[in-house]
Amino acid sequence: MGDTAGIGVVGLQDYVTVSGLTDTLYMKNRHISEATDNCPCSTKQAYPLCCGRFLDADEIPGTAEMLMRTRYTAYTLQREDYLLATWHPATRPASMDLAEQTHQWLGLTVMHHQQPDSDHATVEFVARYKINGRAYRLHEISRFVRENGRWWYVDGDILLD
Ligand SMILES: [Zn+2]
Repeated sequence: MGDTAGIGVVGLQDYVTVSGLTDTLYMKNRHISEATDNCPCSTKQAYPLCCGRFLDADEIPGTAEMLMRTRYTAYTLQREDYLLATWHPATRPASMDLAEQTHQWLGLTVMHHQQPDSDHATVEFVARYKINGRAYRLHEISRFVRENGRWWYVDGDILLD
């Protein structure tokens, strides 16, 4: 507890536990090639109607949960530009090394979205992935703030369970 690494900071594998995922859940980390593909964030909506509106157009997520989903999708697509652009300047890294990561993202489950006031929110989620064929799950509570009319990712606590 207390780690502020947040999703996608290099070295995730240091924090996660092995889960019992079966191969039936395995889905290759793929780039979006068809408009009819389901969005990687597991909403079962087509990518252009889900996270694509934010990653590929200039729409701004209206809730912290939507921002969290788009950031997960950005990880699956190695969209470092989007991740850095939605990371609060106070905690944003100078750069990321997504191209060197070998995560095969499998899916996202958002468990809780809490917004105690209009400008602060937390989102608890589980993201599943494989590295070198081995399954992992990342359970995190991410913190978000709203400034200048938009939500920003600040940091997160990784839950070891
Ligand atoms: Zn999505």
